[in-house]
Amino acid sequence: MQHSQDSQSVLTQAQDVLLKTYARYPFVIERGEGVFLYDTDNNAYLDFGAGIAVSGLGYQHKDFNEAIQQQIGKVLHTSNLYYNIPSITAAQKLCRASGMAKIFWTNSGTEANEGAIKVAKKYAFLRDKHHKHNIIAFKNGFHGRSLGALSITGNTAYQEPFKPLLDGIRFADFNEIASVERNIDSQTCAIFLETIQGEGGITPAKKDFLTKIRKICDENDILLILDEIQCGMGRTGKMFAWQHYDILPDIFSTAKALGCGLPVGAFGVSEHVANSSLGVGDHGTTYGGNPLVCAGVNAVFDIFERENILANVESSAKHLICVLDSLVEEYTIFTKRQGLGLLQGMWITDKQECKNTEIISQALKNGLIILPAGENSLRFAPPLIIQKEHIDKMIDKLRQTLRELGLN
Ligand SMILES: *Cc1c(COP(=O)(O)O)cnc(C)c1O
Repeated sequence: MQHSQDSQSVLTQAQDVLLKTYARYPFVIERGEGVFLYDTDNNAYLDFGAGIAVSGLGYQHKDFNEAIQQQIGKVLHTSNLYYNIPSITAAQKLCRASGMAKIFWTNSGTEANEGAIKVAKKYAFLRDKHHKHNIIAFKNGFHGRSLGALSITGNTAYQEPFKPLLDGIRFADFNEIASVERNIDSQTCAIFLETIQGEGGITPAKKDFLTKIRKICDENDILLILDEIQCGMGRTGKMFAWQHYDILPDIFSTAKALGCGLPVGAFGVSEHVANSSLGVGDHGTTYGGNPLVCAGVNAVFDIFERENILANVESSAKHLICVLDSLVEEYTIFTKRQGLGLLQGMWITDKQECKNTEIISQALKNGLIILPAGENSLRFAPPLIIQKEHIDKMIDKLRQTLRELGLN
């Protein structure tokens, strides 16, 4: 193996050159294999974070890597002035998986949401011939860090220094239909939400809530936009989380596990929205839909099907839910588990001094990666190929971690 630098030297160099926008854990990742990551000192880490719900196929998936390598041998980039086949076949697969009619490729989640906002604005502008529209978003929601996506992100700390943001954004309470109804008026053009809130603490939309939102949207020609960047692409055992709810959005956004490590996102729209919103010249991207990342997306869809990833998510999630529920029973620090499929949150009590970041730091020392979410909860979002034995191993490491911290 190649000689690697020791982590301390890497950390020092990082301080020198990387703008400090993250409180990072002192952990330098060098390589991955399956559901394990390795640091520069060759310590192994069982990965229940997947690079924030991205690496659905784990690391060094043979067929995935081969597909990318093959495309490297052809062409990396074309721009959108011309066509490339991987972007078309990947769009066909994404349409089929989502039930949407048209796809626009982006490079990240936040850009997918920027596009979705533009679609909603253009749709309403064409219909009403004015600009005075508002969008309803949700408290504790998260949609990204660029200015449009930040405008609909229900976190005042993230927003405050960057005001003024987009006009006409109203924040309703998640899972409270009365709060949505209070905020709606004749100028509402879209309701924008995560089917399962992620960054704000794992909170799935209630079935009744989402069904009623769909109805309100239908009755008032308001567009329902679902952000499936974190909860989509198989994470809940269905390709998209809304498929648990028997509804369809008018617009959706995806990224994260869409490229399983390649930087790619997309938004998709229904036929009706496609026919009455963005046209030639309204939106663009230089990289978006580039053949390299789209070859990866194609491989992701093919591998999901060939390896029956959704079935694995379903059976592994059943086990994960079962063991996490028993921790809630057993430990007083955990108040509840919430989630769907392989996106699970464990909520920590506020009655005791106990921060999620302390648990996460100590877990790292024990070779386990878990994620924070919200004010004070733990998030579990392993690669979608995770097996029962890994879940048992994770629980052993988590128990050891809690014991070392004197938590019970
Ligand atoms: C991660 C995330 C985003 C932002 O995606 P980026 O690729 O980081 O821009 C937006 N919405 C949700 C729900 C996310 O989880």
